[in-house]
Order: sequence, then C-alpha cells, then structure tokens
Amino acid sequence: MSRALFAPSMNVAELRESATIAVSARAKALAAEGRRIVDLGAGEPDFPTPKFICDAAHAAIDAGRTRYTQVEGILPLRQAIAARANARPRRSGTEVTPSNVVVTTGSKQALFDACFTLFGAGDEVLVPTPAWTSYYEMIGLARAVPVVVRGARDRELKVTADDLRRAATSRTRGLLLNSPCNPTGAVYDLAELTEILELASSEGWWVISDEIYRRIVYDGEAPSLLDVPSAGERVVIVDGVAKAYSMTGWRIGWAIAPPTVARAMTALQSHTTSNASTPAQYAAVAALTSAEAEPAIRAMVSEFRRRRDAALRILHSADADVIEPRGAFYLFIRVGDGSQSPEAGTICAQRMLEEHGIAIVPGAAFRAPEWVRISYAAPEEHVLTGVSALTSVLESASR
Ligand code: PLP
Repeated sequence: MSRALFAPSMNVAELRESATIAVSARAKALAAEGRRIVDLGAGEPDFPTPKFICDAAHAAIDAGRTRYTQVEGILPLRQAIAARANARPRRSGTEVTPSNVVVTTGSKQALFDACFTLFGAGDEVLVPTPAWTSYYEMIGLARAVPVVVRGARDRELKVTADDLRRAATSRTRGLLLNSPCNPTGAVYDLAELTEILELASSEGWWVISDEIYRRIVYDGEAPSLLDVPSAGERVVIVDGVAKAYSMTGWRIGWAIAPPTVARAMTALQSHTTSNASTPAQYAAVAALTSAEAEPAIRAMVSEFRRRRDAALRILHSADADVIEPRGAFYLFIRVGDGSQSPEAGTICAQRMLEEHGIAIVPGAAFRAPEWVRISYAAPEEHVLTGVSALTSVLESASR
C-alpha cells in the first residue's frame, strides 16, 4: 500500500498561501512565458531605497557589523524607535524605553510574534474586515479564532466600537487594528480610535495596532495609538521601515509592547529567527535618525497622491464604487453586489490578468469577495492602464 509522502501537520493544515503573493507569482509565471504583464498586485513602493540608507548599510558591513546582535535588536535602533514614540506631540501615558521594543524580521514577524504570544487555543480575536490577508492566518496559527467584524460602506468599511461590542463573546481576548488600512486606505481618526480603545480597555482586551502605513497619508496625519490617552496598557504597536522608507526587502520591523510582553516575544524570536539582519538594523537607524528621511518620505507620498488622484478621476467618471483612500497606496473597488456571484472579485481579477495582462488582488484575500484591490505603488502609466481596463471589464459585465 502506498502512503502519501507528505500530509501537512495540524499546525498548518488550515493555512492558506498568501493570496497577494499568489497573484504576484501567477503574474511572474505569465511574464516568464513572454506575456507583457502590468503588476498592480504588489504591496511595495516602486522607489529605490534612499541612498543615505544604503550608505549606512555599506558602512556597517565595512565596519564588520555582520555578526549576531541581541535578539531584541541593537540598542541604537531600539533607542531611535523609543525616541520617535516619545517625541509625538500628543503623546500620552508612560514613556517608551528600549525595553519596550523588539526589533523583528519585518513587521510581519512582529505581528506574528504578538499574536502567538498573546492568544492561544479557544481565544477569539476581532478583526475589522476587510483586512490584510495574513491577520486571519496568523491568529489561526496561534490556534485562536479570527472573528470577522465588517465595517459599513458609508464609513469606508471602518468598524465602530458598537460593531466590535456586538461581535464580542466571553472568549474575546483581543483585536487587530490597522490604520491606514490595507486594502481600503481608510484612516481611523482620534475620536474613532479613542472610542474603540475605551471599549477594549474596559473589556481587558489586547489591541495589536498595525501602523505600517502611518507615514503614507494624504490629508493631515494618521493618529497612532500612542496618541490615544485612554489606550491603557494592553496595547502592542507594530511598525517598520518597509513602506515609508521603501525598504521592503531589508526586513526590519518592530513592536512596542509592555516589557513583559516584549520579553516573551524576544524569547519566542530567540528560538525561531534570532535577530533581524544586522546590516539592515544599522540601515534602519539611519532611516529613523537622518534629516534626509523626511524629504524622501514627502516626495514619495506626493507621487502616490498624484497617482491616486489621476486614478480616482477615471474611476469616478466611470461611476465605479471606490473607497477614496486617505492613506496607504491601494484602491479598493466594488465589482459585484452579491447578486451575481459571491466571488465577483475573483472572477474580475482573473479576467484582468488573463484578458488584459494586469495583475490585481481579488477581495476574497481580504474577506471581501465582491471587491478587488489595485495597488498604485507602480508607475503612473501602469496604474492608469490598469484602472481603465478595470472600468471596461466592469462595463462589459454590466451589459
Ligand atoms: N501589515 C500590513 C497591513 C501590510 O500590508 C504588510 C505588507 O504588505 C505588512 C504588515 C508587512 O510588512 P513588512 O514588510 O514590514 O513585514
């Protein structure tokens, strides 16, 4: 009798491959076959890492900084992260110190470590939805249950404290917030965050706040949980250099957490990845401390704004139902109303790729199957080609 070589363990039996990475992989496979593919699926800035940051990495390597570091990250980087947290003008609560900070291999690892450390079997974790595909899987890997909480269309799909209260049970242990949001670009204002945090702290829930897109914002500022006076102690803030500094491949992120949680996350990391890449940590110090960083971020954000506005003009003139992004670099567009096919977004993304050679992400990846996501972290002509193709797919579908 032949036995299958491999049956996935219980740990990963339910795990689904990241849908955003799957689209990019399919687009790359078609490109390898010689098709011209416009990739609007990827979630990474299309700008090079600024030179002063690359120079800092070269200098670190030349100085022999190529060995293991402390598991929680080098002190100058943790100091720089703490200093930025304390410098926030509306900063409330106790001071952030380096002992609150764990440097990780991308913010993705910080999110995973936080979920794995705070949640376990039987716990329920509220996920304002639509949300980034990996949250649901990370919570599942911790053997906890992600609970989908949908936001209303007239609030840009954001949730309120009442929505969360209704979804909670006696097993609810926490909540995963993301503002600016991937995939919608929606930004929670201070009043909305305050209301949610008051509920969380009165219920004793942990709040993990993914603030990776906070610096990519178009109107004013996106508040951090560090700005919320009532945030309480059960808060883990996750951020990193990937998006704001165009450093996706350097893999540096971090968590700011109470010292006990930071120590538990460090212990977990000590048995999995050890420290984040050493030269990349030195590069991140330059990103966070150099005066050259702010103009570089402003230039990138103003380019994103130009692309967003040009794409929105096309979508509005075609009467598309699009959420006007206030941050991040994604357009979230409704392509079905539930009456035709529950997977309208998947069908639309397939047609865009196979018929037009344009890769976009189906909303099912974010648990919103009637929607699709277009990234405008791509050259403007690509974005406009993609948005125009989408409007023609929508028109032909409605005929
Ligand atoms: N959080 C969100 C919402 C993201 O969209 C991404 C990347 O796409 C990440 C976290 C991961 O970022 P990093 O490259 O820092 O791991």
